[in-house]
Amino acid sequence: MVDLITQYQAISKEIKIEFDSILESGAFINGPAVSQFEQILSEYLEVKHVIGCANGTDALQIALMALNFDPGDEIITTNFTFAATVEVIYLLGLKPILVDIDPNTFNIDLTKIKEHLTDKTKAIMPVHLFGRVCQMDKITDLAKEHDLVIIEDNAQSIGARYNHPRLGQKAAGTLGEFGTTSFFPAKNLGAYGDGGALFTNDDSLARQARTIANHGMSRRYYHDYIGVNSRLDTFQAAVLKIKLNHLDTYIQKRRESAIEYGNLLNDIPEIILPNFPKQDEEHVWHQYTIRILNGKRDQLGQHLKLSGIPYGIYYPIPLHKQKAYMSEEFSDEQFPITNTFSKQVLSLPMHSELTNQQIKFITDSIREFFLRK
Ligand SMILES: *Cc1c(COP(=O)(O)O)cnc(C)c1O
Repeated sequence: MVDLITQYQAISKEIKIEFDSILESGAFINGPAVSQFEQILSEYLEVKHVIGCANGTDALQIALMALNFDPGDEIITTNFTFAATVEVIYLLGLKPILVDIDPNTFNIDLTKIKEHLTDKTKAIMPVHLFGRVCQMDKITDLAKEHDLVIIEDNAQSIGARYNHPRLGQKAAGTLGEFGTTSFFPAKNLGAYGDGGALFTNDDSLARQARTIANHGMSRRYYHDYIGVNSRLDTFQAAVLKIKLNHLDTYIQKRRESAIEYGNLLNDIPEIILPNFPKQDEEHVWHQYTIRILNGKRDQLGQHLKLSGIPYGIYYPIPLHKQKAYMSEEFSDEQFPITNTFSKQVLSLPMHSELTNQQIKFITDSIREFFLRK
């Protein structure tokens, strides 16, 4: 699905120099690379504060902790996301309100949010899924109107930009109180291990988040809050510092691959291709996810497997059907799109090293499957 080795080979010299200097310095925890990376990422995103942490799940949890919600407060989010998004809501004793998705974008259906608002609704947590930014103007309007906080789960869309009609072009993850991301190796900006970060333009929330990520200590051994231990590792920060310089090129490569896939698959009637947004910069193609009609998804998967082609199913089970989260409050009727899509989606290999030759091989194999049927 990704080719981290080829990508590494292109930057190996830079990486080795950075790693060597960390090894020689012994500054393994909070070494200079961490604040350097936070600084250059904040410039890249044009956001005031970037706070590194141990992974994308912690970033979400720290954001929620910093916002000081009360137990039972309701957080609106999508039913079609990686479980981390709702896991942290439950862990903090908050209540996730799951909403179905928009069939055109795979993102939360903005027309369905209003019907879920109660006097306990405190926040909305949009997830920019597969690299595509949610319609943030509608979300910022809604938040303003109903006094909601926005936490953007930007684990899959770092580097995407959104053209907000009033605020201008903004990086995904910088339009709410908090944005969070993950540097899991397979993400668009991936480290060589775990990593994550939070973004905010609010000085006091930034201070709070930084303190919480460090055991709630504002000064050493003075604990003001119950916090966590969540640091961005120095070696990972060094990798990210180097890779951030290449992120726009990586994204451009993904865009070209998405166009190529579209060109080669657009005449197969049983495949629904992902939509391109009106503005290129609003999609960074973390995944290229097609939908297979007529119940043939798993058969196609089997066929690809036999041809040695990797694929992913993101996500096979909607959250409301997961054993861990099942509840009487969720019923199948609330989630027709998520239910249907979870049986249809199939993500094809997508990464910055993908060649047109590989795309041809993959799409030929898909074509062969549908011709044979
Ligand atoms: C990857 C991911 C996370 C979690 O990130 P980790 O670094 O693996 O903890 C959270 N939300 C979404 C949407 C993700 O894709």
